[in-house]
Amino acid sequence: AVEVKELRKNYGDQTVLDGIDLTVRAGEVVALLGPSGSGKSTLLRCINRLEGWEGGTIRVGGRFLGTDEGGRGLSPRATAQMRAGVGVGMVFQQFNLFGHLTARENIAGPLRWVQGLSRLDADRRAQELLERVGLAHRADALPRHLSGGQQQRVAIARAVAPGPSVLLLDEPTSALDPELVGEVLEVIRRLAVEDGLAMIISTHQLHFAGEVADRIVFLAGGSIVEEGPADRVLNQPRHPLTARFLSTMA
Ligand code: ATP
Ligand code: MG
Repeated sequence: AVEVKELRKNYGDQTVLDGIDLTVRAGEVVALLGPSGSGKSTLLRCINRLEGWEGGTIRVGGRFLGTDEGGRGLSPRATAQMRAGVGVGMVFQQFNLFGHLTARENIAGPLRWVQGLSRLDADRRAQELLERVGLAHRADALPRHLSGGQQQRVAIARAVAPGPSVLLLDEPTSALDPELVGEVLEVIRRLAVEDGLAMIISTHQLHFAGEVADRIVFLAGGSIVEEGPADRVLNQPRHPLTARFLSTMA
């Protein structure tokens, strides 16, 4: 589970997150909706400690992450190890796969470099994950020979490989052709249920949010203005900002 309390984050004199309270249980999928600039990516980046913050607390799996624990000054390897240790994985819009490595190596490589697994164990774990995302038959393919949906499934498998308890996905389907969204959605749902992952997914795609999420959290101007079951928020928004946003997206 992940527990965010009174999180406050500034960029210069701009307050970007203004007192965020958000708890996501194991196995629960939360979609973050909100206008561009409302702070969705910043919230995810704070939870993964790609950013520091000014106030409030974040707990992952009961472990407290202080404001001054942001990893500044650590080597990339030490930072990755620290993140792996607190169990947060992240997936980005643009997949960010290593272009010169095969699908299997994209997963197995970090398991060796960061987690310290042997080649045999890393390859075995990678193969198991590729099977779970339906890509065992493409293990030796380079990213450029995979479809966007397949690349994103490899990226999700890679993020899940170290066994995080929280998975953050920042617009994971925004770069995909509409017909490829479904396969990524299915993989996300399956992993949430089977592995009991707490997931937070930022998205602009209402249909995707409605299908993937148990709960929708609507962010505006750095604050949560509304949250509730996905169906209820999408069909009967209670806050005027949510209603207006949904009507512009429909
Ligand atoms: P989008 O839907 O466009 O992805 P978002 O909800 O993810 O938007 P953020 O990227 O979190 O929004 O940005 C929130 C605010 O913080 C914006 O006003 C943005 O300009 C500002 N911001 C984001 N990153 C930085 C940065 N590195 N330095 C300064 N300001 C930033
Ligand atoms: Mg964003």
